[in-house]
Amino acid sequence: MSTIFTKIINREIPADIVYETETVLAFRDINPQAPVHVLIIPKIEIPKITDINGKEHSALLGEMYDAANKIAKEEGIAESGFRLVFNCGDNGGQEVYHIHMHLLGGRKMTWPPG
Ligand code: 5GP
Repeated sequence: MSTIFTKIINREIPADIVYETETVLAFRDINPQAPVHVLIIPKIEIPKITDINGKEHSALLGEMYDAANKIAKEEGIAESGFRLVFNCGDNGGQEVYHIHMHLLGGRKMTWPPG
């Protein structure tokens, strides 16, 4: 089932888009948890990380990590450091069932995460 992220991909609802390729889109989180909080998503609908298989999706995942590195550089947080997070399922805290990588930075992260 499609989510709100498909509407963002299709420009049916607005988002602050910071990066786009043929396969990947990245936009600022509407409820940022850090000075930099960007969501990096594939344009194809994959609900959960458990739907990923390496053979089919390895290039796509690589492109998502490339996106994270480019955005981190552009946002000026590549050197200071940042965190990349995929939430998966209920216990993982996933709210939107279209996989997305959270890129969080601009402040010191704590560990363990909440
Ligand atoms: P999850 O909890 O699924 O890992 O993360 C979903 C993220 O999507 C949350 O951080 C939430 O703030 C963000 N989000 C939900 N709806 C929207 C939206 O319509 N626009 C944007 N930019 N972010 C959204």
